[in-house]
Amino acid sequence: MQKFSYHTHTSLSDGKDSLEDMLQKAVDLGWEQIGISDHMIIHKDIKQAPTYDKLIDRSGDYVYHNSFEKSLPMFQKNAESIRKTAKKYPINVLVGFEVDYFTYNGWKEEFKNFIKQIDYDYLLTGNHFFFDEKCEVLIDIYRYDSLEDIYKTDSYETYIRRHYQTIGQAVSSKMFNFLAHLDYARRIKQSEKYPCRDEQLKVVDCLVKNQVAAEVSTKGLRKNNVLYPDDFVLKKMINKGVELVISDDAHNIDELGYCFDETSIKLEQMGCKKRFCLK
Ligand SMILES: [Zn+2]
Ligand SMILES: [Zn+2]
Repeated sequence: MQKFSYHTHTSLSDGKDSLEDMLQKAVDLGWEQIGISDHMIIHKDIKQAPTYDKLIDRSGDYVYHNSFEKSLPMFQKNAESIRKTAKKYPINVLVGFEVDYFTYNGWKEEFKNFIKQIDYDYLLTGNHFFFDEKCEVLIDIYRYDSLEDIYKTDSYETYIRRHYQTIGQAVSSKMFNFLAHLDYARRIKQSEKYPCRDEQLKVVDCLVKNQVAAEVSTKGLRKNNVLYPDDFVLKKMINKGVELVISDDAHNIDELGYCFDETSIKLEQMGCKKRFCLK
């Protein structure tokens, strides 16, 4: 059974509980390892996003950044504080970040240079936004259904295709140790009619080609009783030999390790032989 999680959030980003409480809970669960992966969301125009006020209402303005330069000291400080706090707990603590991948000109180069200046152990890519072709106007997927149509410059089909292409680009960049919640966008109502299976399978192929692992997130079970990704994608990933890691995407102590045993059994039953872990 898996006794660690690499996808967890603390009050350093939008998690509810402190780093200390999360580490203590992991120790209480008998884990030997935990990765803290608070959000790293940096986009030059994020403050102009149509849902920006709602984003900060929900998660706090320290989660969304419009400048690599200005946010660097905060990320360096957070990484340092995780290292320091970790020493007080009998558990191996890794410093990670969950990164939204953006595609406007220059983002990738800036990000590469930025991340070199931070003392971290691993990165996952989790993508929470739709955007226009130039990646300038961000639409929070969480708010897509309630957002007025005037802000939606493209059709749903165009957004969702572009979204999966972006995830494929993130995977192909080889900058990330694993991919988070591949089909997070299925929370949008229209995804039932248009799940975009072709584009999802292209992402699976990118994982295979670039030998990047993927998470199986029990957050999906908490939200609507289906893992992220759903069984269709999960089967393809297993058949193609993608390395899988179970995640909880915990935003509070009670979510740590949520349904890990059941999910381990399910993966075994589905024939998963390749499980991912960090050294
Ligand atoms: Zn996420
Ligand atoms: Zn997350």
